[in-house]
Amino acid sequence: MNTSRLVPPVSDDPHAMDELRREVRDFIAECLADGRVRRQVDCWLAGWDEDFTLALAARGWLGMTVPSEYGGHSRSHLERFVVTEELLAAGMPVSAHWIADRQIVPSLLKYGTEVQKHRFLPAIASGDCYFGIGMSEPDSGSDLASVRTKATRVDGGWSVTGTKVWTSGAHRAHMFICLARTAPVDPAHRHDGLSQFIVDLHSPGVDVRPIVSMNGGHHFNEVILDDVFVPDEMVFGTIGNGWQQVTSELSFERSGPERFLSTFPLLAESAEQMRREALPRHTDVGRYVARIAGLHQMSTAVAGALGRHEPADTAAAVVKVLGTSTEGDIADFADLLTGDPSAEQAEYAAMLESAVVQRPGFTLRGGTNEVLRGVIARGLGMR
Ligand SMILES: Cc1cc2nc3c(=O)[nH]c(=O)nc-3n(C[C@H](O)[C@H](O)[C@H](O)COP(=O)(O)OP(=O)(O)OC[C@H]3O[C@@H](n4cnc5c(N)ncnc54)[C@H](O)[C@@H]3O)c2cc1C
Repeated sequence: MNTSRLVPPVSDDPHAMDELRREVRDFIAECLADGRVRRQVDCWLAGWDEDFTLALAARGWLGMTVPSEYGGHSRSHLERFVVTEELLAAGMPVSAHWIADRQIVPSLLKYGTEVQKHRFLPAIASGDCYFGIGMSEPDSGSDLASVRTKATRVDGGWSVTGTKVWTSGAHRAHMFICLARTAPVDPAHRHDGLSQFIVDLHSPGVDVRPIVSMNGGHHFNEVILDDVFVPDEMVFGTIGNGWQQVTSELSFERSGPERFLSTFPLLAESAEQMRREALPRHTDVGRYVARIAGLHQMSTAVAGALGRHEPADTAAAVVKVLGTSTEGDIADFADLLTGDPSAEQAEYAAMLESAVVQRPGFTLRGGTNEVLRGVIARGLGMR
């Protein structure tokens, strides 16, 4: 078993980003003070606020790692990490641009054509283009090789037909990246014959149907594609290379601060409620803060590795398993600690309710913890 460090730490100077952190904190304090935003749990999934997205873009905090020739800010992965970490820790509404900024940007930089880069990267950096992810299907989640959405060659492009499910934000996004089969399944090479397409969610033949969560929230959708025409210039990467492309995105999807901070605003508010003696004091707050601090170090190290274009799949999977478990444990901790909230605890109670409802999704989205434990075991040479 390989027990050496999964990825080296990112910087010798723990204060290198202090100034940027302070800038973001000041901005958040300003927004909270003038009532423009409120703190939310799971804000990167549930906090859709296009005005806030535009305000971040105006400060240069979207598309931070996008080179300036494509309308971005040519900043480091670590700087982006610091900005997103601060926004998530404060529960700011970032879901409108989240998928585009986190995932589509690095994918476009790696696989996009010049046409695609010039069309989408400046629009993402200015907060004007939102993306969704079209991977999961009704009978295909963990095992993506079994997707049944099909793309067939037609004059000037591809015709895509199939059903995607659990597509976060598809009812508001402009585009999504859709994984489809472009060649029949070869049982000996099940991951071959998959391809990715950038699909305009307003194209004829696209039907986005809401899936309403048990608390009445609408984040998920079913996206039905019926003979949807995708022009050749919206083929993403190489036909037949979809599996490699999807898996190369996963380190970006799995290792970020959103994998351990979804319930952090609730933890912070629990501590505040204890300080005010509105909740009984409990030493476990310290345990959760320590877990978050460790995850911060691990996740920062992965951001450094990604910035150096080093592979970090195993470390990213470790961050996600430990981080999403911590998020759920914080929800349980606060739930067990809290009796009937008083009227003064309204904001806290709203965060708690949302944490409890969203909790089952933390360890499912982006790859379940059971599947990720298999990835980690393989990465450590144990499987
Ligand atoms: C909040 C949220 C947001 C999401 N957003 C999106 C989105 O925007 N786009 C999108 O495409 N998808 C999205 N998903 C779907 C998500 O990616 C899938 O739910 C996830 O990959 C699991 O797939 P599944 O639900 O089909 O479960 P299944 O794959 O059917 O798994 C069922 C159970 O079997 C276990 N299991 C499966 N295979 C193995 C194995 N090999 N070894 C051990 N255990 C196994 C799993 O761990 C799980 O417990 C979202 C899901 C959630 C909860």
